Amino acid sequence: MILEKLEKILAKEPPFRLKQAKRAVFHELIEDWDSATNLSLDMRKKLKKNCPLKINHKLFKDPSGDTIKALIELEDDNKIETVLMLHTGRRSTVCVSSQIGCPLGCVFCATGQMGFKRSLTDGEIAEQVLLFCRYLKNNYKPARTVTNVVFMGMGEPFLNYENVWRAIGLINDKDSFNIGARKISVSTSGITEGIKKMADEKLQVNLSISLHAPTDELRQEIMPVAKKYPLKKILKAVDDYIAKTSRKVMFEYLMIKGVNDTMENAEQLSKIMDKPLYMVNLIAYNPTGQFKATDNKTIKLFKTYLERRGIFTTQRYEFGRSIKAACGQLAAKNK
Ligand code: SAH
Ligand code: SF4
Repeated sequence: MILEKLEKILAKEPPFRLKQAKRAVFHELIEDWDSATNLSLDMRKKLKKNCPLKINHKLFKDPSGDTIKALIELEDDNKIETVLMLHTGRRSTVCVSSQIGCPLGCVFCATGQMGFKRSLTDGEIAEQVLLFCRYLKNNYKPARTVTNVVFMGMGEPFLNYENVWRAIGLINDKDSFNIGARKISVSTSGITEGIKKMADEKLQVNLSISLHAPTDELRQEIMPVAKKYPLKKILKAVDDYIAKTSRKVMFEYLMIKGVNDTMENAEQLSKIMDKPLYMVNLIAYNPTGQFKATDNKTIKLFKTYLERRGIFTTQRYEFGRSIKAACGQLAAKNK
């Protein structure tokens, strides 16, 4: 927990010291305090002793080379997973976790099925990005860097709002990772308190809603959280968010065979999604045990149906299935 340690160790120093040290770690990406030459020798010694920069982790690489999963071991021995996706060109996205496990128990999600341990601190969230910034710097010539961050790993970000938002501040800070707000996305299962808070934030981060079903009845079957947050309540919060921010909102729709992928479901979905700035993203289901994925042909038909009704619809490209690094497969099981 580098960030928390720095804040504690430098609490009594003039504020610029903390700024310098944070810049060295999160911007210059030093991995050894000896390289922080703008700090005094004494300070470097103190930090070397009390704030180690090593992040304990193991990497798992997808054979295609486009996905790398890191299993990070935290100080209390809990483990979290975070994923780097390398796109063509220079774009690279880190998918971060916001909690250890998830209390919401969606039936299709490996994280939801593993139960819940605790929320992550802002430092623990930021360190997932730091790990891959270092990796890209050290393994690519010319060096690559993390260009996008999505909160789509383990956990529900809006059940850990304050720490997630502090981490976003650091990710965006020009003296830190310097990633633009528009390159950062938060995905929620529909916690309306979080959607409301986000509408008032200064940073214009992207919002995604995990919808996955067009009716409350069906949604409650696969997402227990839907009982507390019915569609009407979620869509009202989203409409208020759009009225305040004029920003697009992405609705994620997982395609699960025989569960939510009929043409009737497409029709029901088209009715609630027919609003300006609403976008639908169809996601191929990554098997985690219980369900099967909808075949590609049906996904295409579903997509065409929505498009014919004027709904802006995309289909997500999946990274990292073979190393269990794809959406919903994160459960910290790899050894
Ligand atoms: N808890 C938040 C963010 C993490 S989940 C949320 O639910 O939005 C990130 C995304 O992965 C969500 O859209 C989630 O529904 C999706 N997901 C979960 N299980 C999946 C699976 N087995 N295959 C594909 N996507 C899955
Ligand atoms: Fe939690 Fe999101 Fe998985 Fe549902 S899909 S269990 S909200 S991480």
